[in-house]
Amino acid sequence: MTSTLNSLLETFARIGATPDGGVCRLTGTSEDGQARALLAAEISGRQLALHVDPIGNMFGIASLAPSSKDAVVVGSHLDSQPTGGRFDGVYGVLAGLLAIEAVAARAAVEPGKARRNLALANWTNEEGARFQPSLTGSSVFAGTLALDDALALADGTGVTLGEALTAIGYRGTADLTLEPRRYVELHVEQGPLLEEEGVEIGVVTGCWAARKLSLVFHGEPSHTGPTRMARRRDALRAAARAIELHHCLIELSRTGAHASAARITVSPNSPNVTPSRVQVWFEFRHEDAAIARGLGDRFLAETRAAVASLGVDVEVAADEQRGTAALDPHGAALTASVARDLGFSLMEMKTIAGHDALALNKCVPASLIFVPSRDGLSHNPAEFTDETSLDKGLAVLTEVIWRLVTEE
Ligand SMILES: [Zn+2]
Repeated sequence: MTSTLNSLLETFARIGATPDGGVCRLTGTSEDGQARALLAAEISGRQLALHVDPIGNMFGIASLAPSSKDAVVVGSHLDSQPTGGRFDGVYGVLAGLLAIEAVAARAAVEPGKARRNLALANWTNEEGARFQPSLTGSSVFAGTLALDDALALADGTGVTLGEALTAIGYRGTADLTLEPRRYVELHVEQGPLLEEEGVEIGVVTGCWAARKLSLVFHGEPSHTGPTRMARRRDALRAAARAIELHHCLIELSRTGAHASAARITVSPNSPNVTPSRVQVWFEFRHEDAAIARGLGDRFLAETRAAVASLGVDVEVAADEQRGTAALDPHGAALTASVARDLGFSLMEMKTIAGHDALALNKCVPASLIFVPSRDGLSHNPAEFTDETSLDKGLAVLTEVIWRLVTEE
């Protein structure tokens, strides 16, 4: 028998489906609009009040305690990477919807128990694939990113997030009027630890630090034929040297850091012109913020030295340092006790990936719960979590939010 959760996940996976079994649902595209419309119908169909705020965050409110202004917010995101899987984000939104439905039904047969309301959230542009930075909607909600700045973010073709949201009809005016008191997010792990340890539920207690460096290599355009080799100032060659240096530095440091150089732009990008401007996005992640910062410093110094002989200048276009953070200890303890009560194995862990819960944690105590990812694979069409594991996560989420809305 197919569960409601599974059939909802299958329905959503058809929106923006890619031939290889994944999804591509970039923020503000028609696919995003279709997924939002379907979610709006699911919200309204469950008698939840639909709100869409000015950055396009969608809320579905269950008034369990009408005399209270307080809400427990549960959510995640419907947008995806270009090579997205069927579970990243959408699992947390749909499980949140079903958990709220179950808690509302229980509150109806146990009147007077609920002391707070519940709100489902679909946060705009979590992935940051089309518009950077990521975690846009949740950061605006948390007050760490100005609404006007967020609406002005432009994609690679100059279309702004505000224009894209207007085009799909999700630049709203209805803020969440309730006061968020706790935030809970259920997500697939996107890494290998739970599967390797054979554990069913991950209780996330905090996050790794990250340093994101975007470097521009400035050379000089010249003809790729007649220009003497010694005369060339090749920005792409300098970038290639920096990328390899970056990987070697991580291997040799033996710090356990994770690092990537995953995006590059080349100008003028003609086969017959020596590249004169190349931008590369580098990142370093580590559990210890000082190590992430130190690796970045060393990388910058070594890169400058390594490319100097090529006649190429290095400009630091962006240097973003995200520190470690601790998530809500009360929520983590509650999640652990719920998992134990339901008979599931659990482990405490840190998240290496960014999540809306981390953005929300700046304004409200936030919790993050993981279920295993097969092979630790994510941002990949083959991303997979089996139905039993998904259902266990839903069971934990449901009981956690029941306790959060009813506790003293
Ligand atoms: Zn996600």
